[in-house]
Amino acid sequence: MLPESVLKKAASEMLDYNNTGQSVMEINHRSEIYQEINSRGEEKLRNLMRIPNDYKVLFSQGGATLQFAMVPLNLKNKSIAAYVDTGIWSGKAIEEAEKFLKVDVIASSKNDGYTYIPNIPEINSDYDYLHITLNNTAVGTAYRDNIPTSKEVPLVCDASSCIMSEEMDVSKFKLIYAGAQKNIGPAGVTVTIIHEDLIRKDVAENIPVMLSYDTYASHESIYNTPPSYSIYMMGLVLDWIDEIGGLKAIEAMNIKKAKLLYDFIDNSDFYASAIAKDSRSITNVVFSVAEKDKGKAEIANQKFVDEAKKIGMVNLGGHRLVGGIRVSIYNAMPIEGVVALVEFMKKFELENKVANSW
Ligand code: PMP
Repeated sequence: MLPESVLKKAASEMLDYNNTGQSVMEINHRSEIYQEINSRGEEKLRNLMRIPNDYKVLFSQGGATLQFAMVPLNLKNKSIAAYVDTGIWSGKAIEEAEKFLKVDVIASSKNDGYTYIPNIPEINSDYDYLHITLNNTAVGTAYRDNIPTSKEVPLVCDASSCIMSEEMDVSKFKLIYAGAQKNIGPAGVTVTIIHEDLIRKDVAENIPVMLSYDTYASHESIYNTPPSYSIYMMGLVLDWIDEIGGLKAIEAMNIKKAKLLYDFIDNSDFYASAIAKDSRSITNVVFSVAEKDKGKAEIANQKFVDEAKKIGMVNLGGHRLVGGIRVSIYNAMPIEGVVALVEFMKKFELENKVANSW
């Protein structure tokens, strides 16, 4: 979801941005007007996330998926990196990195269906970096107080589904990347927050220019034509976050939304969450109708998703590789949406528990 007020503001400026007589989509990306949109977006992001001065903020295209390749390509030195395997997206990051360097999977929760965040062992300085997926969108887990501290090894994280969903100490990481499309804007722009020490000119000479962090860092992300409309929209979403009280307020709202759902699920014998309590995501709540027979559970979950859709609650199906039910409660989803969902869950339970003996 995007906040309605943001969509309305964008609509009101669609034909004429700031008395320029042009839509943002028509503005020359080398013009002062666009440069201001770009630098204001960066400034907002820096202020809201309290990004230290020795980090660069880069806007690129290609989604988080391109970062799966850009990270190893740019950070490769000893040609070995440590990865933590916590589900589908970290798996994809690993597969891509393996094309460029040796990957050591130092921890995994695969054996238990990725239902928790594994303990991460101390690692030595032999690695170019340690990569984690901060929030696991498909399976519904997240690092909470257990973000590893890898003193000598730069910590890299994929924050695609949790960026700006709560306060975050940027200095714990040397590189954070995220597609904007879940919490901070529409699809089309990817944000990378990278410590200056990781930007290397020597690497830039040997890889495609658009895959080098140095290209973006030394041209304020306008080396070639940027995804200007997406960056403009992101700026509007960041204004909205600021207006409602910044990340502290967003975090309080998101925790309240997630707690409402998890408490309801935990107090019910009709629904169940397989996710360990200390590893639960506050943005993606994954659960299922509590039916031991897998076939019956699948039928029940599908009925839940179909009936919810009939009353306008869409996108509740689990990730296609995980199944079950997934409620994504990103920043723009208001608490009223979660309250309405819980009401629907109660009704669905009443109607199906006895009738179908689920
Ligand atoms: N990482 C995570 C954690 C994701 O949730 C997603 C998308 N759902 C991706 C990476 C891939 O992002 P993109 O579509 O921007 O390439």
